[in-house]
This record gives sequence, structure tokens and C-alpha cells, in this order.
Amino acid sequence: MAIERTLSIIKPDATSRNLTGKINAKFEDAGLRIIAQKRIHLTKAQAGVFYAVHKERPFYDELTSFMSSEPVVVQVLEGEDAITRNREVMGATNPAEAAEGTIRREFALSLGENSVHGSDAPETAAVEIAYFFSGLELVG
Ligand code: ADP
Ligand code: MG
Repeated sequence: MAIERTLSIIKPDATSRNLTGKINAKFEDAGLRIIAQKRIHLTKAQAGVFYAVHKERPFYDELTSFMSSEPVVVQVLEGEDAITRNREVMGATNPAEAAEGTIRREFALSLGENSVHGSDAPETAAVEIAYFFSGLELVG
């Protein structure tokens, strides 16, 4: 297994309920290191670029409105197999299907307002990290 980096976002439903610390504890307990982190308030256009892959999906407007409704915390997680490990800690997209102990099972409100984003592959992780952070901001 290789040391990887992945892009994580703590979504508006979680930042607004003051869950940033509890969610970060889940990452750290799973051996993921938070090597960069900042709280930002995305515009709808910025959220739209980030989620451009979903542009044709029926939920795109709802998703980009939600992601720009309140601040988010964007972060880079580093660790062994970090992309897959983070997806395990997050749980399934739909919280009703997420395993016990996962972030989405414990904290998500719905399929749309599901508390966290995590990159799904090395190529997308690299693009997503570069969207929010410069190399100087990644302190491993
Ligand atoms: P994941 O975040 O698990 O990688 P996707 O990439 O499929 O999931 O979808 C991106 C995000 O879009 C989801 O996390 C969720 O917030 C939202 N989403 C996905 N499917 C739906 C849906 N059917 N209705 C509303 N929102 C959705
Ligand atoms: Mg996805």
C-alpha cells in the first residue's frame, strides 16, 4: 500500500451543526493525517466547477446550492491507502446504507446533505487538491 493524499470536504450540514471536530476525530482515529485545512464559503459557481462531473445529473442544482449555502472545511488527508480508507470512514453516499460507525451513518441528514466529500481515485484527488490548495499549503 502506498502513502496517498485525498481531498476531503466537511459539508455545510456538518459545519453548521458544529461537527468539524467530531468528524476530524474520525479521520485521525483511522490513521489519516490532516496535512492541510481551511474553512471557506464557496460561491455557487465555485461549487459548480468542483462538481462539474455531475453537471448533467438531476441533483446538480440542489447540490451546488447546498454546497454554497454555508461555510465548508476543505482539507487534505494523508495516509496509507488514504483514498480508499477515507471512503470507508465516510460510509456510503446514502446514509441509510452507510455502515455502523461511519461519518455518514452517524451524522448525515439525507442523501444530499451527507456531511462529507472524499475523492474517489488518485486522478480526481490530484485535481481536487489543486483546486483548493497550493503545494506550499500541504504540510505533511
Ligand atoms: P459521493 O459523495 O459518495 O462520492 P457522488 O459522487 O455520487 O457521491 O455524488 C456527489 C454528491 O451529490 C453526494 O455526496 C450527495 O451530496 C449528492 N447526491 C448524490 N446523489 C444524489 C441524489 N440522488 N439526490 C440528491 N443529492 C445527491
Ligand atoms: Mg463522488
